[in-house]
Amino acid sequence: MDLDSKTIIAMMSLSSLAAAATLALASRMHLAVRGIGLWAWGFALGGIGVGLYPLRGAVSPLLTVLVASTCIIAGYGLLWAGMRRFAGRRVAPWHLALPPLIAAPVLGTLYLADHAAAGRSAFISALILVLLVLATAELVRGCGGRALGRRLLAGLFGAHAVFYAARLIAILAADSGAVAEPVGAFATITFVEAFVWVVFSALAMVVSTSEVLQEELNRQATRDPLTETYNRRAFYDLAGRELARAARGGRPPAVAMLDLDHFKSLNDRHGHDAGDRVLQAFAATAAACLRPSDVLARYGGEEFVLLLPDTPLADAVAVADRIRRALEAQPFDGAGGPLHATVSIGVATVAAGTTDLEATLKAADRALYRAKAAGRNRVEAAPPPLPDAPPSSAALDATTARPAGTAA
Ligand code: GH3
Ligand code: MG
Ligand code: MG
Repeated sequence: MDLDSKTIIAMMSLSSLAAAATLALASRMHLAVRGIGLWAWGFALGGIGVGLYPLRGAVSPLLTVLVASTCIIAGYGLLWAGMRRFAGRRVAPWHLALPPLIAAPVLGTLYLADHAAAGRSAFISALILVLLVLATAELVRGCGGRALGRRLLAGLFGAHAVFYAARLIAILAADSGAVAEPVGAFATITFVEAFVWVVFSALAMVVSTSEVLQEELNRQATRDPLTETYNRRAFYDLAGRELARAARGGRPPAVAMLDLDHFKSLNDRHGHDAGDRVLQAFAATAAACLRPSDVLARYGGEEFVLLLPDTPLADAVAVADRIRRALEAQPFDGAGGPLHATVSIGVATVAAGTTDLEATLKAADRALYRAKAAGRNRVEAAPPPLPDAPPSSAALDATTARPAGTAA
């Protein structure tokens, strides 16, 4: 069965409008994901623009040529703006207005000068190509490109851009404007390609939307809202996996308990908001002292816990002391004037071959208690967990870090 070009154009227009309706619905349901509404408007305008083509000859060329093409360009412009917003970047009014504002006057001028339409088609293809390249770049740059839906979307937009580059070359290479007519083999290929592209792009957009929602849910389930560090549950999860890995033959991790000093009195003197800012700044400062594989979590209140995979006790003490010194050096504004916060830290290592996290956390907590009792703003190490070789006092001293000027 052969399909005539008007049927193909109608299919293309309807698929675009169906994609718009699907995305509009998704945008109402997933308010947290940005850009879907712009995608919906983009496909809607594209569908309307393409839907005007079959009216050619029956109504004014102003509608079928200028309005239809400007709608399509504006639609691609909205898809690009949607990608920007989806990638977390700002969309200014000019992002939405510029594509149709460039398209309409140029298309009008070309229409008056060239009724054969080759110039118009070349111009439209070039403009669409630019907008597709911009949209693909937003996806590749802003979305990390790791998730399947986003990779698929970038691939689809990239492939569509390659098609438009080929179309532009074909139009420029042809002697007549025949290729640019809305009917004929070349136009049919264009509409069939656009039909397939719209259907798969809308699907990839819906998949990308659920990926973003899934990531957001994961973030909310695993992160502390104030400090953005891991929460206690996520810490136990990640630490359990690390202990299992180490028990299979890797080097054991170290853990540290970190507790901000005199935090109650800091709150009392400078206000709860200042206390919250100190907690946030402490989390950021500590994170800056750590490797990407280290796990920092808020254990509760002003208490944090740290997992350092594959780290001997002496190295863990050095890391803990780096965090302690970084916080000590950081000035804060409080209600009662400038303030300095300090932290006490207890460090312990997991016994080789064990998966008992609780025992190590208890050992780190005992070391923390000693740090508090010894004057705060210091790091204390738990004795290494070697049952056959009780730690000597010399070994302990080597793993005990004290603030400058504090007597041993
Ligand atoms: P120490 O040096 O012995 O650790 O004394 P501390 O005052 O830090 O310890 P304590 O356990 O007596 O007090 C902890 C304080 O931390 C009490 C609580 O109000 C405060 N705190 C807990 N969570 C938060 C929070 O989310 N924001 C703020 N601003 N304060 C908090
Ligand atoms: Mg405290
Ligand atoms: Mg505490």
